[in-house]
Amino acid sequence: MAVDTHAISVVLEGGNRGSVQLDEYPDKCAACGVAGQPKFIIGHSLGAAWDYNEVVEAVFQCPNNKCKRYYTGIYTKPDRMGDYFFLKRTLAPQYWEPIKFSGEINEVSQRFSRIYNQSAISEDFGLDEIAGGGYRKSLEFLVKDYLKNTKVKTVEQIKKMQLSDAISAIDDKRIQACAKRAAWLGNDEIHYDRKWENKDIGNLKELIKLTVNFVESDIIANKYEEEMPDKEDKK
Ligand SMILES: [Zn+2]
Repeated sequence: MAVDTHAISVVLEGGNRGSVQLDEYPDKCAACGVAGQPKFIIGHSLGAAWDYNEVVEAVFQCPNNKCKRYYTGIYTKPDRMGDYFFLKRTLAPQYWEPIKFSGEINEVSQRFSRIYNQSAISEDFGLDEIAGGGYRKSLEFLVKDYLKNTKVKTVEQIKKMQLSDAISAIDDKRIQACAKRAAWLGNDEIHYDRKWENKDIGNLKELIKLTVNFVESDIIANKYEEEMPDKEDKK
């Protein structure tokens, strides 16, 4: 069998270095899925850590300019006496930095932050067909929880409301204007027919961000008005 070999240097347990032969480099990035010859970064031998087979993990960098992520190739030597380590699988890094919202937003709606972050994770993983629906759900929780907070409507009334009715019930015109447009684009994400052809998920996120900012400003401004009432004798 003709094997395209790659000799790499590996760090051994204990810190010494050794050299092993890999049968191949991965031909597809584990993070973005794009094919291409990756750059070898560093190798590490786990010795006979698993399964009595010697295991080597090799870190590669994706050649795709839009990605450039590091990922790991797991190699094993099925025949312990053989020369080659064979690629068993590749693993993408799973770490996700959560998007943090202010204390005011989290106080009004904890679910908003949770749903928004899950949507962002799915978008990051390339699940573009479901991320938009998730963002729309996050908007619904933000709007309804905010409405609950303003005490304009009862919880029972809010539960029965369509998102568009909940938005119409908001007093603050700026929040209403942004939330209304975010809902239009959010509906495009979950419906068969797209109405706003020249707008995309980036616009939806921008409108949700504006809604978040105006909700935040409204809460902070109200807090100051309550703490510092507008009385004649204090002027
Ligand atoms: Zn990649």
